[in-house]
Amino acid sequence: MKYDVLIAGGGAAGLTAAAYTARKGLAVALFEKQDELGGLVKSVTRNGFTFDMGLRAVEDSGIILSMFSQLGIPLDYVPSTVSIGIEDTVLSLASKESLNGYGELLESFYPESREDIHRILQVITSIMKDMEVIYGIENPLFKDLKRDYRYIFRTLLPWMFKFIGTIGKINRMNEPVEKFLDKLTDNASLKGVIGQHFFTKTPAFFAMSYFSVYLDYLYPKGGTGTLTKLLAEYVRAQQAEVHTNTALAEVDPLGQTVTDARGETWSYDKLIWCCDLNTLYASIDMHRMPDSPMKESIQHRRHQLEGNRGGESVLSLFLSVDEKPEYFAKISDGHFFYTPDSRGLGNIHAMQLEKLLGQYDATPEESQRVMDYTQEYLKYTTYEISIPVLKDSSMAPAGKTGLIISCVFSYDLLSQVDRAGWYEEYKEMCCKYIIGVFSRSIYPGLSKKILDRFVSTPLSIERLTGNAQGAITGWSFDTDMMPAVHQMQQVSRSVVTPMKHIYQAGQWAYSPSGLPISLLTGKLAADRVIKELT
Ligand SMILES: Cc1cc2nc3c(=O)[nH]c(=O)nc-3n(C[C@H](O)[C@H](O)[C@H](O)COP(=O)(O)OP(=O)(O)OC[C@H]3O[C@@H](n4cnc5c(N)ncnc54)[C@H](O)[C@@H]3O)c2cc1C
Repeated sequence: MKYDVLIAGGGAAGLTAAAYTARKGLAVALFEKQDELGGLVKSVTRNGFTFDMGLRAVEDSGIILSMFSQLGIPLDYVPSTVSIGIEDTVLSLASKESLNGYGELLESFYPESREDIHRILQVITSIMKDMEVIYGIENPLFKDLKRDYRYIFRTLLPWMFKFIGTIGKINRMNEPVEKFLDKLTDNASLKGVIGQHFFTKTPAFFAMSYFSVYLDYLYPKGGTGTLTKLLAEYVRAQQAEVHTNTALAEVDPLGQTVTDARGETWSYDKLIWCCDLNTLYASIDMHRMPDSPMKESIQHRRHQLEGNRGGESVLSLFLSVDEKPEYFAKISDGHFFYTPDSRGLGNIHAMQLEKLLGQYDATPEESQRVMDYTQEYLKYTTYEISIPVLKDSSMAPAGKTGLIISCVFSYDLLSQVDRAGWYEEYKEMCCKYIIGVFSRSIYPGLSKKILDRFVSTPLSIERLTGNAQGAITGWSFDTDMMPAVHQMQQVSRSVVTPMKHIYQAGQWAYSPSGLPISLLTGKLAADRVIKELT
């Protein structure tokens, strides 16, 4: 049987592409290599505690709610209020005005940098205004423009003028956040506390816009995985075929077929690739392709991707804790960015890491150096903490609390440790260090109340999803040439590949990415396919 549309990857992007194409009555089949759909957006329940394995809350960005509303999928959610804390001081971000409180928090730790802090806050204030423009309306892609004149004339057209004025400014703020902050202050600790939980070389606009993002977070009832669960139900209800435990292994762009890892071949009119793009190009047998302009374009694209890596990833510790939610609610909101030591990572850790990643001979001395570095890193880094039960009381058994504690973590270091054969031991040490850091700082006595724990690392993410380097938001920013569209005004081109019948969507299609971009590109790819097939 020839399908109208085949979709590779059952994460947020693949599910979106499947939802829109199947809704149009096209014959759709979706393939997911894992035994469950959802990709990086999943929630799991273990002994009565529900944990979000991927993102901890959702930024609407004018996309998520509009899309669910357009598909007619009811979504029950609550605001996900964010707290920021340094050592023993915690601030709840209730509104835009909380920015003043943030300034005071920073000044209390870094009084010598008062003027720098003012300059930084001015930048954040200005970016907040830009963000109100960019994400201030429901994204037109998810509106029925043929019918909704009110939206077109009252909302979209006035917005477009403001958008054009704002977009130029954003494009000019594309330099790495580290360099940008260097211009505003030379206080390494201050720079660390503001920027160290972003990935290396995150574009300044994206990083500095996070204060706005914090105010925009939502939490779907039942966990962030509710989003992909509802989308999956919708896809199935639209009669799309769903094949889990089925990895696509070979793509023939000329014959318009794919072959799965079990050797079964499937024919398509259109293919939408919604997983790591390296795997798409690796699964094309170039020797079998006759010389043609398409072959040249594929080869060119392959070379472009070769030198690039997936972006950074995170280490997450999932804890079931024998402590009442009220205890944690007195300390912070359910979504909490916390730096246990105001000295922050400074510039030293990156240099130390580079040294460790040089030649590694796995001697006891070398291993000790890795441990020492890791201990220091985990002491000074910034953590993202999520406490699902503070957002939805059904997420933990009565009187108990689930905690998710995560931080940016080096994939390369973990791989090195894995190659040397002590990954499990190292993971266990990381857990113990982190629990120690929190027991000595914001949650005294935590270590004694833990009922159960498990951990996820960049390596486990890579193994599960096939995302290079365990990347959670597509390409690394640390590159000479970003191999994806990275200008907002060109986003509609991000789904195009050099192969006429193959589109791409998801976190590898556009940068900077994240959940909203996966949905947006899933819809853009679906629209192109629908236009060509109907
Ligand atoms: C801890 C964490 C925190 C995050 N925080 C945020 C946040 O605050 N804000 C934000 O916007 N984003 C955040 N993200 C990122 C966001 O969740 C992802 O960028 C987004 O969900 C990616 O969706 P996707 O569909 O593009 O890719 P994925 O979710 O990676 O889905 C790809 C799917 O394809 C499958 N697959 C791979 N290869 C094959 C194959 N050959 N055949 C078939 N199937 C295959 C994989 O198993 C996977 O299910 C976070 C992610 C994590 C993990």
